[in-house]
Amino acid sequence: MSTNPGQVTLSEVRYELLRPQQIIAAREKLPVAYIPLGPMEWHGPHLPFGVDMLHAYTVALETARSIGGVVLPPLPLGTESVLEPDRVMHRGFTSHERIEGMDFPDLALPSLYIVESSFMTIVRELVRGLKRQMFRIIVIVNGHGAKYHMTGLMRVAVEESEPGKHAVVHALAFDITPGKGGHAERYETGFMQAYFPNTVDLYSLPELPLPIKNMETGILDGPTCEGRPTPDFTVRSEQDPRFAKVEEGHQDLANGVERVSKQVKEAMRTWQDPKANLWAPVRVLGFESYIQQPSEVD
Ligand SMILES: [Zn+2]
Repeated sequence: MSTNPGQVTLSEVRYELLRPQQIIAAREKLPVAYIPLGPMEWHGPHLPFGVDMLHAYTVALETARSIGGVVLPPLPLGTESVLEPDRVMHRGFTSHERIEGMDFPDLALPSLYIVESSFMTIVRELVRGLKRQMFRIIVIVNGHGAKYHMTGLMRVAVEESEPGKHAVVHALAFDITPGKGGHAERYETGFMQAYFPNTVDLYSLPELPLPIKNMETGILDGPTCEGRPTPDFTVRSEQDPRFAKVEEGHQDLANGVERVSKQVKEAMRTWQDPKANLWAPVRVLGFESYIQQPSEVD
């Protein structure tokens, strides 16, 4: 029998499992709600479609367990765009091919991207609902690095922030260190090995020492995403998913929690200031310079 109907156990941060009084109690402790999201997207033959969403969800849960707040169920949503000709060529295709995001012509299944307008509407409506519930800091924890996906979320964050009342933060689950952010490569694979080990199948990749080809697998290393492919359009050995390490996955989560916590703390410090700079939570991580690069990661 429960002795205190308003009590929130220390371990339970999942919004959908909380009763009204528990949500209110959590909010009074720290008025922060997280919305983790990422599209169902091709991540090589060896990883599941949900990598980006699961990454965002794991980072959001661990951040909430560490500093407080409640976490909504993860949204399997995200957007992509038809790649510019130079990006198409960086992946090894000829410039006239029409490729949306990671949906290369020879891959077995297309991704479940949704258009930007619908995506932003859904996220915005959830943010508005959480504002009506009087959460002061709403954190969109994003696991997907496509350009328009990120600029869309940044817009929602800035437009829905109301200095003095609410701050909406766009936080990244993944690392934006130059050269590191690839797709379905060593780091994403290490993360999945660490937290969703049954979903990873390295045997579906070519056997070593055969190279992993970008076009055939949809696996891209960080420099390739930044416009520096190898001459034969293969994954560099230092980011080869076959060399993924569980310890790097653990480190990735620790880094993600640290980054998101930093943004939440910054927002907690400034949201009550009616003259707060809406772009401050965006700028705190150098996100603007990242988005100006012609890169597409995660
Ligand atoms: Zn990814």
